[in-house]
This record gives sequence, C-alpha cells and structure tokens, in this order.
Amino acid sequence: MPTRNVVIIGSGPAGLTAALYTARANLKPLVIEGLEAGGQLMLTTLVENWPGYRDGIMGPDLMTEMRAQAERFGAEIIRGHVASVDLSRHPFAIRIDDGEFSSRALIIATGASARLLGLPSERALIGHGVSTCATCDGYFFRGKPIAVVGGGDSAMEEAVFLTRFASHVTVVHRRDTLRASKIMQDKAFANPKISFAWNSDVEDIKEISKGEVTAMVLRNNKTGERTEIAVDGVFVAIGHTPNTALFTGAIGMDANGYLVTHSGTRTSVPGVFACGDVQDHVYRQAVTAAGSGCMAAIDAEHYLDALPQHLGE
Ligand code: NAP
Repeated sequence: MPTRNVVIIGSGPAGLTAALYTARANLKPLVIEGLEAGGQLMLTTLVENWPGYRDGIMGPDLMTEMRAQAERFGAEIIRGHVASVDLSRHPFAIRIDDGEFSSRALIIATGASARLLGLPSERALIGHGVSTCATCDGYFFRGKPIAVVGGGDSAMEEAVFLTRFASHVTVVHRRDTLRASKIMQDKAFANPKISFAWNSDVEDIKEISKGEVTAMVLRNNKTGERTEIAVDGVFVAIGHTPNTALFTGAIGMDANGYLVTHSGTRTSVPGVFACGDVQDHVYRQAVTAAGSGCMAAIDAEHYLDALPQHLGE
C-alpha cells in the first residue's frame, strides 16, 4: 500500500476541517472516522452558534455537510476504528481492525467524550432535554426549571450560565462538598436562582415514553430517601474524557490525558498534529475545533513541504 501524505483520525468538526484543508492542498488525505463518526455534534439537536446559519442547523446535518464538502475536494473517508499506531518509525504506521496504513503526517482529531451517568433514560433523552453542553443548549430552556449534575468547575460554570435562561437551576451533587474552585463555588452560592441537592444520586430521568424530560428521581445516598423534582432539562457536567488511550506513552499529554500542543497544533512527535477537543479542555466548541482543524492542516502542509524530497514526494 503506498505511503499517504496525511492520515486524519476522527471525523468531528476538527477532523473534517483538517480533511477539507488538506484535500484542497492536494494532499489526498485519508480520514478514519472512528467509533463515534461525526463526533459530539451527532448527539445534539439544533446548533445555533455555528456562524453562518442564522436559524441554526441540526448537529447531524452540519456534520453531513462538512463530510460532503471534504469529499468534494478529494478527501477519502473510511469507516474504521484505529487499533494502534506506531509513531516510533517514519512514515508512521496506523493500524485499523482489518488493515494498516503508513503516512508521513498524522492529524489526531479523536475528540473527547462527555462522561455520562450511565442511565438508560439519560442515553434515550440526550438531545431531547438531556444535554452535555450548556453553551449549546441553554437557550432552549428559557423560563424553565432545569438541573445540572456535578460538583466541579464545569458544573458550577454551567449552572451560573444557565441562570440566564432557566427559571431555576438545581445542582445535583453526589457529595456534600463541591470539587469546584472557591471562586466558582462562591458565584454559585451567591446566585439566588441556584439551589443544591447534596449527597444525591440521579436514579432516573423521566419520561422516555414522552420523548422529553419532565422530572428526575434523586436518591439521597446517606438516608436512602427518594425525591422527584420537576425539571425540563438535565445538564450532565461530570467531566470529559479525552480519547487518547491509543497514544499513551507515545505523545506528550497533560495530567488529565489531553494531548499537549505547542506552536500551533504540533505535538511532542514531529509530524503528528492534534486539533479539537483532544487537545482543548477549555473552549470545546465546534467552531474552535474546526478552527484548530484548519491550523493542523496548515501545520501538516508546512511539515510535509520541509521533508527531504525522498520522503515528501
Ligand atoms: P471534574 O473537576 O473532574 O469534576 C467532575 C464532577 O463530577 C465532580 O464533582 C465529580 O464528583 C462529579 N462526578 C464525576 N463522575 C460522576 C458520576 N458518575 N456521578 C455523579 N457525579 C460524578 O470535571 P470538570 O468540572 O469538567 O473540570 C475538569 C477540569 O477543567 C478541572 O481541572 C477544572 O478545574 C477545569 N475547568 C475549569 C474551569 C474554569 O476555571 N472556569 C471551568 C471548567 C472546567 P466528586 O466531586 O464527588 O468526584
């Protein structure tokens, strides 16, 4: 199999933007779409903060468009799950379940997955009242009571942000002290629209049969007491896990497993670039992921241009 110029792992906004740009640079990229093809936007409904769509666009429709646009310029997109990579040799080896590719440059856009509670009702109602992104979906809950699950900085940030829309926000936390920084805690405690359900586990989210969120069932893990609170939305903010297991020991990561990038999208391995949520735990927006995908494509192009002729051609 001939050596590729660039292989892109991941097919969310970062990966597909990197594909668009590298395709238009005539690098004939190969995209391996991964287990969650299309990324986190496939789990949302209306996206209202993607510039250019004044009435919003459905998340899955946006990903279909991005994919078709990359393909139009020659990106090859294949189904497949990367089983392992060998970055100790160059060109790099990228193994999928039923084959292997070699590539001079590699763009990692494997994203991060929002941690979920693991309830069947949560999975069933995601995009229908259950959300993992307050910035994306808060606007849909104007004047309505909602809950935020979690006790970290993300949960406090989301709770405070959501009081702009919601009539009331109940923060549901499994312990009686918050993990969030003092300043975030103070902001949440001072907000008259926020109340706390302490020592509480979410046992169920209702009502699957109606296809919308109407209430959540909490269980106090100290007393065993169950309560039901009426809410129209549940924001799960219990952290994200970057999809970086493949690269453990091979690429520099921070303490939380996010890939570390420098000088744009360069990783600790020359020729390997990272973009989107796999290297960003701060902004985590589709538009910032796409922006960094564009950067990775340009960085990869410069890297390939500088390779000795026998490798770069
Ligand atoms: P985090 O700090 O790991 O907090 C996760 C929270 O979710 C914890 O309170 C945890 O409970 C709870 N949790 C985890 N799994 C759970 C489960 N299965 N069921 C119920 N609750 C569960 O995650 P994060 O808040 O997303 O923050 C990640 C990092 O980004 C942190 O370093 C944070 O400081 C940073 N961050 C900073 C800002 C900011 O500075 N503005 C904003 C957002 C995030 P326990 O406390 O009991 O473990």
